Amino acid sequence: MPKFAAGVVKFQKEVFPEKKELFERLAKGQAPEALFITCSDSRIETGLITQTDPGELFICRNAGNIVPPHDTHTGAMTASIEFAVAALKVPHIVICGHTHCGAMKGALNLGALDSMPHVRDWLSHTRAAVEIVEEIGAEMSDAERLQALTEHNVLIQLNHLRTHPAVAKALALGRVQLHGWVYDIEDGEVLAYDDAQKLFLPVSERYAAEVAKYVQQAHCAA
Ligand SMILES: [Zn+2]
Repeated sequence: MPKFAAGVVKFQKEVFPEKKELFERLAKGQAPEALFITCSDSRIETGLITQTDPGELFICRNAGNIVPPHDTHTGAMTASIEFAVAALKVPHIVICGHTHCGAMKGALNLGALDSMPHVRDWLSHTRAAVEIVEEIGAEMSDAERLQALTEHNVLIQLNHLRTHPAVAKALALGRVQLHGWVYDIEDGEVLAYDDAQKLFLPVSERYAAEVAKYVQQAHCAA
């Protein structure tokens, strides 16, 4: 039996009974706090990083945490974004890139992807970010260029996200907030884009006031 199948048995015997009330409540419906768009990379565990339970994040994953700009063609991302924003009315949307991303490495070297035409075509949605890094990255090391691309890709995908009608409407009515994050696999750091300063800051700094308020509420509730 593969390890992940044995894991299901362990979940049913040991984990599910402990959280039975949560799952019974979730069977009645979902009201996630965020649409969380991240890479398919196996090294990203969204529940672990954000310490959230089932029901709290509506998750869309694909290679490179890409959001194609809106057009009339219906795709998985288009439909999922529309559902999360128009039906579930998520108050937050996070696009979370990550370090050592294979998709970002591929985007820097599209010529090497001739044997994977779908990957190559998909990564064309990162083109603006690649061109930015080609412009600003002449003096950068390979690692710095990859980090710069990862960050600019998140910002470009946020721009694409704003072209989706449900998102544009929710933004205009002040019903949704957008967030650009980059998760560092090696040290657990999560950077978040600060619109005012135009740079990525640690989440602990970017959301210092919100985190302090949440910790205080949790303390009072305990
Ligand atoms: Zn990735």
